Amino acid sequence: MVAARVFAPLLGAIAAVALAACRSEPAPTTPASDAAARSIILVTVDTLRADRLGAYGSAKGLTPALDRFARGAARFTAAVTQVPLTLPAHATILTGLHPAKHGVRSNDGFRLRAGVPTLADALRTRGYATGAFIGGYPLQASFGLARGFDRYDDDFLRAAGAVERPADDVVGAAASWIDQHRSQPLFAWLHLFDPHSPYTPPAPFAPARSDAPADALYDGEVAYTDAALGRLFDRLQRSGLFSRAAILIVADHGESLGEHGERTHGTFLYDATVRVPLLVKLPDAASPRTVTVPVEVADLAPTIAAMAGASLGAVDGQSLLPLLHPNAAAALGTPGSAARDAAAGDPDRPAYAESYYQNVLLGWSPLRAVRTSRWKFIEAPRPELYDLEADPGEQRNRVDDRAALAAGLQRTLPSPGGDAAARAPAPTGESAERLRSLGYVSGSTTPSAAARAVDPKDRVEVWAAIEDGIDRAGRDPHGAQQAFARALRLDPGNGLAMKYLADVSFRAGQLRQARDLYRRAIAAGFRHPDAFVNLAAIAERDGRLDEARAALMEAVTIGHADADAWNRLGLLDARRGAVDDARRAFTSAMAAEPGRAEPYYNLAVIERRAGNERAAQAGFEEALARNPAYPEAHYELGTGYLLARQPEPALNAYRAALAARPDYAEALFGAARAELDLGRSDEARRDYERFVQLAPPEYRRQIAAAREALRGLERHR
Ligand SMILES: [Zn+2]
Repeated sequence: MVAARVFAPLLGAIAAVALAACRSEPAPTTPASDAAARSIILVTVDTLRADRLGAYGSAKGLTPALDRFARGAARFTAAVTQVPLTLPAHATILTGLHPAKHGVRSNDGFRLRAGVPTLADALRTRGYATGAFIGGYPLQASFGLARGFDRYDDDFLRAAGAVERPADDVVGAAASWIDQHRSQPLFAWLHLFDPHSPYTPPAPFAPARSDAPADALYDGEVAYTDAALGRLFDRLQRSGLFSRAAILIVADHGESLGEHGERTHGTFLYDATVRVPLLVKLPDAASPRTVTVPVEVADLAPTIAAMAGASLGAVDGQSLLPLLHPNAAAALGTPGSAARDAAAGDPDRPAYAESYYQNVLLGWSPLRAVRTSRWKFIEAPRPELYDLEADPGEQRNRVDDRAALAAGLQRTLPSPGGDAAARAPAPTGESAERLRSLGYVSGSTTPSAAARAVDPKDRVEVWAAIEDGIDRAGRDPHGAQQAFARALRLDPGNGLAMKYLADVSFRAGQLRQARDLYRRAIAAGFRHPDAFVNLAAIAERDGRLDEARAALMEAVTIGHADADAWNRLGLLDARRGAVDDARRAFTSAMAAEPGRAEPYYNLAVIERRAGNERAAQAGFEEALARNPAYPEAHYELGTGYLLARQPEPALNAYRAALAARPDYAEALFGAARAELDLGRSDEARRDYERFVQLAPPEYRRQIAAAREALRGLERHR
């Protein structure tokens, strides 16, 4: 059977090498007279609905710590996220820019460009120690948010397939870092991911019934996260930092939990996902207040910059300081930093939100909205207008009877900034797989005029079937197959559903069916690198190498940063004997993902075969620098040393290979050979004996050689 790329990358576990934060510039050290007063702690709770907090009217009792915190903070009742998706929302929170300006419009395939100024950069320039403590895969450092952070702790993502870590781990890591840096001004950002799907609350927050509905499980995650936050607050209180720090707590978006037919978040712009809790506590200023005017999560970066006396340049957000405290600037000791637009306290300031998720995936119309205190207008093929006071559930569309109001609100929408789908870089297979395990769909469809006329709310059942399939793909392939087939019955031209149905067939070994579905998906405009990579795998298996190569060329053309596709192209070229082509492909894989070890290893193997021993040894070293537990690279390095008659380093390399994989027969053979050269007879005997036990029958020649060596050792005893 051909391994599905999305589940089993070709060469062992492709290490999830998280790129460390770029740290080229040392932080300038500005002496701070009272560092603690200038400490700023930002907590983003992923997927937290405002209405789950007691402070926002919930009677469920899920959030005692947040409710206690809210009693000494400003509580914003109309805070709006600009995108109900994790990466773009956080890109806005950390830049103050709307998505059209920072360019990150969905989770998959986007990254924050290097030229976009970030809050962390601005604070570091002001002498702040900057630390980020990440809870979930969508914010992995390589997606661009790490810039400006001295420490960007997403280390847990290095484990293969890891997608999240619990709030207590994030809090523990952040609290230790805060303790170490409290003698200087600091900016700590904690990202707590637990309420995001899949919902798996730990005891004692899990519902008693094993078949509890999704919203009960979700509530359990919220309660657990609140308890972890309570432990953070306690720790800050014990160290005296709690009262002296500015602490800001916000959600990146909420969760629909079935409202309007949406299971999670990302598609629609109703309040279940775009209205977020926002609590801000200033240093020493216990000034609880309620702010009812609309604000944006884009306002957080300029607010925090103003707290630190830092400058962000021109941004879409506005500092919230004047809304927090009449003398907020004075309370923070940052004179002159709190200049604010007169519109700040305006109940009719329109807060912006957008979703390009399905525009990118399916070519359907994007959705864009503005929300005032009372009204929400949603721009769509069938536009919507809701009176949030009379109809908080957004059930009665008033666009026909309030046409002038709707038109006026539409005019306040910012420029859309081009079609996101057209500019979406393609995702890599591994990234797509990790996002799938969090319920996200990957890929993009070339938008056609017909697709762009599709209103996502008119295809809600198609989308529900796709989400159901994604949810089942890992644990219930048959159910997933049925779900994607259902989506195709409802929407026969849906290339995305075809591609995901093809993936299920591919993993089940139904290769002919998979091939046909991939071809149909591509013809329908859904040009996903996975489709081409898997078509190539099928063709290669059938010995059609030219066809395989053509498919891989398509994959790397769409997914230029898809290191796995480049690596496969290199392997295929090596198989075809096209050494120069293979070299180019492996080099491109290295450029696409510099942290990955496999392309270095593969290139080194080619150099060894070509007789370029020095280049080969250097390549194996490069591979090991990226993955120190790479048994094949240690083995090949050892072989190089043995060929160069250097048994001592050869033995070290073989031992390292065996430490990584104790039953590695070839490495035992090599180690015994090196031990023989070094005159270490007992060790050589032991390793030859173990090799003879472990070696598969096809090593007949080596087994005979080992037996011969053992007889020789016996004679010299
Ligand atoms: Zn999120």
